[in-house]
Amino acid sequence: MTTLDAKLDRLLGAKTGKALESALGLVTVGDLLRHYPRRYAERGELTAIAGLELGEHATVLAKVERVTKRTMKSRRGTIVEARITDGHRSLSCTFFNQAWRERELIPGKRGMFAGKVTAFREQLQLAHPEYQLFDSEATDVGAVAEEFASALLPVYPSAQGLPSWSIARCVKQVLDVWDGTDDPLPTELRERLGMSVLEEALRKIHLPQNFGEVAAAQDRLKWDEALAVQLTLAQRRSNTKSHPAPVCERRDDGVRVAFDERMPFELTRGQQEIGEQIATDLGTEHPMNRLVQGEVGSGKTVVALRAMLQVVDAGRQAAMLAPTEVLAAQHARSLRELLGDLAMAGELGGAENATRVTLLTGSLNTAQRRKAMLEAASGEAGIVVGTHALIQDKVSFADLGLVVVDEQHRFGVEQRDALRARAGEETAPHVLVMTATPIPRTVAMTVYGDLETSALRELPQGRSPISTSVVPVAEKPAWLDRAWARIHEEVAAGHQVYVVCPRIGDDEESSGKGKKSKKSTVDDGDGEEPPPDDGGEQRRPPVAVIDVAEQLAAGPLSGLRLGILHGRLAADDKEAVMRAFAAGELDVLVATTVIEVGVNVPNATVMVIMDADRFGVSQLHQLRGRVGRGSAPGLCLLVTEAMGGTTTRERLDAVASTTDGFELARLDLELRREGDILGAAQSGRKSGLKMLSLLRDEDVIAQAREEADRFVAADPELREHPGLARMVAEVVDDERAEYLEKS
Ligand code: ADP
Ligand code: MG
Repeated sequence: MTTLDAKLDRLLGAKTGKALESALGLVTVGDLLRHYPRRYAERGELTAIAGLELGEHATVLAKVERVTKRTMKSRRGTIVEARITDGHRSLSCTFFNQAWRERELIPGKRGMFAGKVTAFREQLQLAHPEYQLFDSEATDVGAVAEEFASALLPVYPSAQGLPSWSIARCVKQVLDVWDGTDDPLPTELRERLGMSVLEEALRKIHLPQNFGEVAAAQDRLKWDEALAVQLTLAQRRSNTKSHPAPVCERRDDGVRVAFDERMPFELTRGQQEIGEQIATDLGTEHPMNRLVQGEVGSGKTVVALRAMLQVVDAGRQAAMLAPTEVLAAQHARSLRELLGDLAMAGELGGAENATRVTLLTGSLNTAQRRKAMLEAASGEAGIVVGTHALIQDKVSFADLGLVVVDEQHRFGVEQRDALRARAGEETAPHVLVMTATPIPRTVAMTVYGDLETSALRELPQGRSPISTSVVPVAEKPAWLDRAWARIHEEVAAGHQVYVVCPRIGDDEESSGKGKKSKKSTVDDGDGEEPPPDDGGEQRRPPVAVIDVAEQLAAGPLSGLRLGILHGRLAADDKEAVMRAFAAGELDVLVATTVIEVGVNVPNATVMVIMDADRFGVSQLHQLRGRVGRGSAPGLCLLVTEAMGGTTTRERLDAVASTTDGFELARLDLELRREGDILGAAQSGRKSGLKMLSLLRDEDVIAQAREEADRFVAADPELREHPGLARMVAEVVDDERAEYLEKS
């Protein structure tokens, strides 16, 4: 029997099996059959070259335009260069010491070409190209497709040494011997939805006769992905609900009201509304599971604090988790500041119904730690702030009523569950999750499907606008000079500037440097051709703080006072640099993303982000939130070598086009490759979704959610539906595997 679990190396031979595993991670028949085509080529079609991304491994349908052969001067050898075209733009393929290629690559011939996309002197190239030529103009893709008894030619995500057409051959071979699989969907459901049978979908997705068959297969495979995730979430929701939560009713005479009366500002409308929702949730015995999304600076801390005070008023405790020690310490400090004498229980000058804020992190000394643990265990601490040390260590609480998780995107579902278990056997605490990364509705429904969501859209009064521009250095090198000139002007006007780089530099990159110098020694001196690059090499390493600071100090920004800040500096040095920058003793701070969270220097007005394409959209959005915090408007410059027309550039243009985080999250989702989405949202479910688009398939997701709830309500363990239970087990296994990888 050849089932989905059968090993590929047994069917295809050890060599092919190994190639599939090492290049694409495909081990079983199921893995290969779920390696779906990225698209389908039709007769006569050519691939648009303008849309290729630097660094990606691409398969291009193109026509040979011209071929030249030259002899290298200093090395004894030949270079054959073939230009291939889509009719608009061309791409160069270079072969070293393979003179015979000239006889094969005849101008006018069409074929499929595969390789990694690189650039040399503004010209796009395919490195180490592999190709398969079509016999004649007339036959082209059609002929190749016929070899597979299919009218459309599947184009697969491929890798070096494993071009799309080799994958297609493997798939064909496997499908010929595959015995098929049982359908996990109950027949009743499948028929009601008008879906194809799983086996048929898996065959047609690879060998369709027409686009109608592709669509039918996609519908079925999408549905399975959506249903598996929604069943998992429905079970999780049903589990959570099975434990009662600690009821924390609102009181009019407690510390929460006392805090409201002394708050130094008016709550925004959003803060009020979400505050009401939370206050209601906390008063019931159903555990609250709420996600609050709000831009950086939208005032999430106050929302969380008011919720925690309601819990304290009910005689219980609240725990607040932050992603880093620095942020935890900062939270503890600002909560104490906001509360004043309301946080001074047991101290001289403490208010009547005061509570206590306790910080519990890994860096406390033994005595401090013991004291903090005691305060948590005795209930003396109404609010305990910490990092995930709070979960990992055996911290016990007298009566934990609420868990607040700040910056959710750094925590996984498992961590949330572990924390929930801290409340003891009988009850589950309420959970409030806060994130500054806006999450589109479908993602929220999928990744955070076990949470209710609320959004804080407005910022408190008095923030200045930020404008953002892309500086495309490959096309407009002069713009970068203008950027540096602008910094001089800004400093002359008394303002300060951040320059952000993706990397720290120095020791971590020694291997990269080694490669470069090796290259220059073998360079053959005629300077026309790049040396053939080794297959595994990626794009150049991103620029580094240490190098950039040195270059700026010696060149474009000489005369200004520069400081550097990154994660490898000692804590004291970091503190000193930050203090100097905040005090205006430095004009320019060259830094890594360490400034992403928590840094607040209102006098900083410009941020230059180098190699901006190396950052994610939401990270760029968060970074630029560091400027424009004072009365002067902020400016953010995104410096990149990415060329116009690429998705990379579109992402940056999107960041420049809007400061609305929610709109940006939507644009980002649109531009991302399917499959990246969940990874970026840190769901731990990256591997599960291949076909489902969180942007376009909102209907499918909503419908799957409904069906999932129905099945789980009737049969929480899915005992009647072993097929569905198996789907859930697969999602959970994937999650666990990824969680283990991460930790
Ligand atoms: P974030 O949502 O990024 O966590 P914070 O909670 O840190 O934002 O709030 C940012 C700043 O705005 C803090 O200094 C906070 O005291 C202040 N703030 C919060 N709410 C308001 C408000 N309604 N009016 C004015 N300032 C506010
Ligand atoms: Mg915050």
